[in-house]
Amino acid sequence: MPESPQQWFARVSEAVAREGYRESDLQQWSSWPWIGDLSPKALDAPVDAEPPRRGAGGVECGQCAGAASLDPGYVVWHDDLFFLGLPFEPRGLPFALFLMPRRHAELATLTVKEAARQGELLAAIDASAQAVLDVPRIQVALWGDGSEHLHWWLYARPTGMLQLRGTFLSHWDNLLPAAPAAEFRADQVLVAHEVARRAGGEAVPV
Ligand SMILES: [Zn+2]
Repeated sequence: MPESPQQWFARVSEAVAREGYRESDLQQWSSWPWIGDLSPKALDAPVDAEPPRRGAGGVECGQCAGAASLDPGYVVWHDDLFFLGLPFEPRGLPFALFLMPRRHAELATLTVKEAARQGELLAAIDASAQAVLDVPRIQVALWGDGSEHLHWWLYARPTGMLQLRGTFLSHWDNLLPAAPAAEFRADQVLVAHEVARRAGGEAVPV
């Protein structure tokens, strides 16, 4: 029988107290963004009930509002089922967009049709970003712990920037100075037009 969160926490925190955390070689990784020593935090016990996330149930959901308005300051591409949204602030990376369903849904509650279209779009967005920007591939992340409405984080590093490879790209994204807003948007719109060419849907005017 799988452990309950309380059982998991009791076992793990007892092991940490006895043996400490596992040795980590992250600081040896060329992609680790920081220098200097860090100490892991003590583990907090699991809460009994998870807190509500932003836009829970579609109430005051920013993504639902964006999907309804198709505000060109936010939505750079859409079709009947999905849209691509700009980050609220320009980023330091050459590519950063969110892929989201038009309908308020989570990954687990997509219809079969939505899930199939999502698969086509992820492939088309990767190919599109590579076609129009100098990026080697996109990275795809799903956290879902802040807003409830499904939003895939899609990012890419500049080709050849090996230090930004892998797991820590999202941390580098938080550290790097942002590109000028107009340039950043123009590059994302270029990708949006390529997505429309390859996979249909409608991109905002350049
Ligand atoms: Zn929503």
